[in-house]
Amino acid sequence: MSTGTLTIDLDALVANWRALNAMTGCETAAVVKADAYGLGLPRAARALVRAGVETFCVAVAEEGAALRAAIGPKPAIHVFSGHMAGDTDMIADMGLTPMINSVDQLIRHLEALPGAPFGIQLDTGMNRLGMEPAEWEAVRDMALAANPVLIMSHLACADTPAHEMNARQLETFRRMTNGVDVPRSLAATGGILLGPEYHFELTRPGIGLYGGLPFADARAVVTLDLPVIQTRILSEGETVGYGNTFTAHRETRIATLSSGYADGIIRAMGPRTILYTDGVPCPVAGRISMDSLSADITDLPTEPKSLRLLGEDQTVDDIAENAGTIGYEILTALGSRYQRRYIGG
Ligand SMILES: *Cc1c(COP(=O)(O)O)cnc(C)c1O
Repeated sequence: MSTGTLTIDLDALVANWRALNAMTGCETAAVVKADAYGLGLPRAARALVRAGVETFCVAVAEEGAALRAAIGPKPAIHVFSGHMAGDTDMIADMGLTPMINSVDQLIRHLEALPGAPFGIQLDTGMNRLGMEPAEWEAVRDMALAANPVLIMSHLACADTPAHEMNARQLETFRRMTNGVDVPRSLAATGGILLGPEYHFELTRPGIGLYGGLPFADARAVVTLDLPVIQTRILSEGETVGYGNTFTAHRETRIATLSSGYADGIIRAMGPRTILYTDGVPCPVAGRISMDSLSADITDLPTEPKSLRLLGEDQTVDDIAENAGTIGYEILTALGSRYQRRYIGG
């Protein structure tokens, strides 16, 4: 086998959901957009259903349809993009709950699917999705008369607890929903950690389930092992890879591993990233290629069959930092060529 193996620990996934759920007194949904942040939607979602998740969130209706096929008719599926033109049949047939973003979407939904469940998304300052205060004011009575199942908004700076934006958005959300007798949701992973006043009736964690920051106490969910295709010995002065950026300063053993930037191992992480086997560090040597990368294995006592990029020694957030990005981007960029192997659950 020559592709990398991505091992997904479903017990850790479930433990992370339980831990986030235990931090609040309200319902905890699970955000599984983008193929469950790259880990594989059907298996992740089914494990979460068995753990007791009753509400899921996806970005678009197509993801909701795939999720419905995986988990059956019972759990609620909220769609953040709302009710887009052309989505009506899918929303109806798959029992999806659009989170309505605009007056146009509200009218489309009430006309096309009267009586079908929906939620309302409010913009409290992020200026990404949702109705602005004036828009909401104009349609509020009509919307409430149609019995939305949820009113939600999203925090722009929840991963920075001290940011003044958090309290400002909380205050705006309170003001926009004052006196409204509908379940409310403001918090994703970061919002849960901000404390109880951010929790309302439903929280919507994503990244924390998958082991990423800002949930620092999360259990690691993914392990990534890359098989060794070839090894060779370099004499002092020889170089490795495109641009000759690695030069051997001693007799050096180099392993060439299957997987490269086309599999989400972005080039920018190269200079600071290390692979491991049994805890022994093997630094990336030279530039990461499209389908391969090289590591310095001089210090290993034996020829390895594979080296580990993600696991206990190096987390998703570690390699994200090496690449100047965030764990979310690393996870969702994990390539389709990996063999996904599930344990636990
Ligand atoms: C992605 C997303 C979430 C989940 O956010 P995390 O930071 O991954 O917990 C929740 N709500 C909305 C609207 C989102 O877009």
